[in-house]
Amino acid sequence: MRSTNRSHARRTALQAAAFLVAATALLAPAQQPAPAPSAPPVVPSSPTSRFVVVLDAAHGGDDSGARIDSGSEKDVALALSVKLRSLLAARGFQVITTRESDATLDAVHRAEIANRSGAQACLSLHATESGSGIHLFASSLTPAAPTRIPAWKTAQGGFVTRSLALAGVVNSALQHANIPVTVGRTALPGVDSMTCPAIAVEIAPLHPANAAITSPADPAYQSQIAEALAAALLEWKTEARQP
Ligand SMILES: [Zn+2]
Repeated sequence: MRSTNRSHARRTALQAAAFLVAATALLAPAQQPAPAPSAPPVVPSSPTSRFVVVLDAAHGGDDSGARIDSGSEKDVALALSVKLRSLLAARGFQVITTRESDATLDAVHRAEIANRSGAQACLSLHATESGSGIHLFASSLTPAAPTRIPAWKTAQGGFVTRSLALAGVVNSALQHANIPVTVGRTALPGVDSMTCPAIAVEIAPLHPANAAITSPADPAYQSQIAEALAAALLEWKTEARQP
């Protein structure tokens, strides 16, 4: 008998399949950092950052303003604006003017230009034949907390306190230049709608003792005022930068 020794090799021992479960669990895909909430743009605080001054030469075009000598207030205002603009530009200010020519411009348009600019100082420039030296005016509106969408005709209310501080700095600079100053408060249609520290600067004649009266139309007088105003705005800028 033929032994059929067909022993099927059997794998009697079941090799326990050791499934080594890789302990190294697959890492979840690297998580992206959560998107940061949109942050407001960082305004650089270096001395080169934006410091905007608005110069508003009052009147113009059909509106001549007061009579000054043989000319008009609108021309004196524009001449002062041009002189002051170049002095400020030379000192690193960004200057925005409401008019550069004999253009007609209403109060709403002037305030719109000022409010779009995000200015740190707005000067409305006037001239008169009455009184003496420089008349500074801040708005007569009651100081109010600034609001995001202020009422148009009283928008300056949120800035009156700063405007009075600006008037103080300008007053000091003019007195330092030996120019007599009076400071007052009044309703100012353009300025009352401005959302920036804002004042009106009105040039009146100079009445020096024992000397001839200097007219607001005198270019040298205008230059002297422009220099003092530029010095004041430089001081205003320095104060604004202090923490
Ligand atoms: Zn005027």
